[in-house]
Amino acid sequence: MYQVLYRKWRPGVFRDTVGQPHIVKTLLAQLQSGRLAHAYLFTGSRGTGKTTVAKILARAVNCERPVGGEPCNECPACAGILDGSIPDVAEIDAASHSGVDNIRALREETVYPPVSAKYRVYIIDEAHMLSAGAFNALLKTLEEPPPHVLFILATTETHKIPVTIASRCQRFAFRRISVPEISVLLAKICSQEQTKADQAALDLLAHMADGSLRDALSLLEQCVSAGSVVTESSVRETLGLNSLEDIAQWLMGLEDLSFSLNHLQTLYSSGLELSSILGQLASVLRDLLMGQLKGDLLVTRLPLEIASALSEKWPRDRIVPAISQIQESIGQLSRVADKHLEAELCLIRLASFSPAQHNGSPAPAPQPIQRAEPAKRVPENAKPPEPAKHKDSSSPSKPARLGAHADAKQDGRWAPFLASLGPFEKPAVMASKAEVDGDTLILRTDDPYFQGILQSAEFQSAVKAFFPGGLTGDSDPSPAPAGRSLDDFLREQNDLIVSE
Ligand SMILES: [Zn+2]
Repeated sequence: MYQVLYRKWRPGVFRDTVGQPHIVKTLLAQLQSGRLAHAYLFTGSRGTGKTTVAKILARAVNCERPVGGEPCNECPACAGILDGSIPDVAEIDAASHSGVDNIRALREETVYPPVSAKYRVYIIDEAHMLSAGAFNALLKTLEEPPPHVLFILATTETHKIPVTIASRCQRFAFRRISVPEISVLLAKICSQEQTKADQAALDLLAHMADGSLRDALSLLEQCVSAGSVVTESSVRETLGLNSLEDIAQWLMGLEDLSFSLNHLQTLYSSGLELSSILGQLASVLRDLLMGQLKGDLLVTRLPLEIASALSEKWPRDRIVPAISQIQESIGQLSRVADKHLEAELCLIRLASFSPAQHNGSPAPAPQPIQRAEPAKRVPENAKPPEPAKHKDSSSPSKPARLGAHADAKQDGRWAPFLASLGPFEKPAVMASKAEVDGDTLILRTDDPYFQGILQSAEFQSAVKAFFPGGLTGDSDPSPAPAGRSLDDFLREQNDLIVSE
């Protein structure tokens, strides 16, 4: 019968477990000295070995020929527990047996001595799922435990275990298993399974497993069955991951909304989930942040040249809000009707976290576009936008100066300027109130996302091709004319892309 890797490679003795030496050492010492607790609480995220260690412990306490605390796995007790023929060791899934009746039945049983083993061992998985009544019933047993009973509670959510229960257990915190530890184990399993896999592929799988051995082995299994040799690119293909370089490239050009939104569409069309696509962006940014904090960009697993360029474009104070934004959008994806729109909004927001002020680029910083409520948003030390060189600029009266602005749509440069714009810049311009002051173009919009587009470096240079004085906002707080909403705009863009 085919056995999944995780079951096949489940360690039978403590010394073969991975990543929890502190726990194994303590348990072995207790087994050797005979000073066992009557209840243990194993906490930690999934796939870290809680149930595996619990099962080994159940055999170790009952083994007739233990060696240094380890179970022999061959004596009648060990064999009986392994094949389930000894009823004294029970594994209870609290998720499906959460009620008070289940625990009461268990309590009634505990008063009798074990049938054929030394200890009755109850392994309660997902213990946090027990009902309040069940916990109360369990507490009564834990307060006066029969000497032949051993409880092992395992949980991923420690905070849901009542203090009264936790305080009567000896607690062991299982840590996430590190990427190198998982990687080494995967290499060992591959060699014994006679599967060819390159190191980069195993490192990637270890990375994706997020500290869970079980996940790592499931992922490996998925990739092994997909092809003969496991390579990094085959792993990426099987798991629907983009190459890191692709994602880095995407992050480099994120402010170019036309490129960025089209790239999203391409990935989506290829069958990837939106949450997975956004998650991969966040993952690369997180690795980049770690690289910056450690002063070692190699942790990004990107070629150093690309990592350095990316790091320059994405300094720490840009990454942190970006990751928060991505996390928030991923959370929203399950709640909104239009998931695609949510993902696009996420990208537009990311693009509007202006990189120009961070990256020390020699290019002139774009002039700020005035926001609708400037009082709250503009930092105190920020200067109001310079009134462009103009014959009336000496006038102290704002209305007079404003009156001198010409409607941009009457200007001869307007039509060719509009024609030169990309599919995402044009709606932003059309939705803004546009005026011309000599050689300077003035655009006002109170939509922060359109503002983001107008502030992009690409757009600023597009303006200068027609209006050498560049782009400015205006200190006039009067609202921009009602244009299409951002949602309308994005829906149109979306339709446009889909129909391509
Ligand atoms: Zn044994």
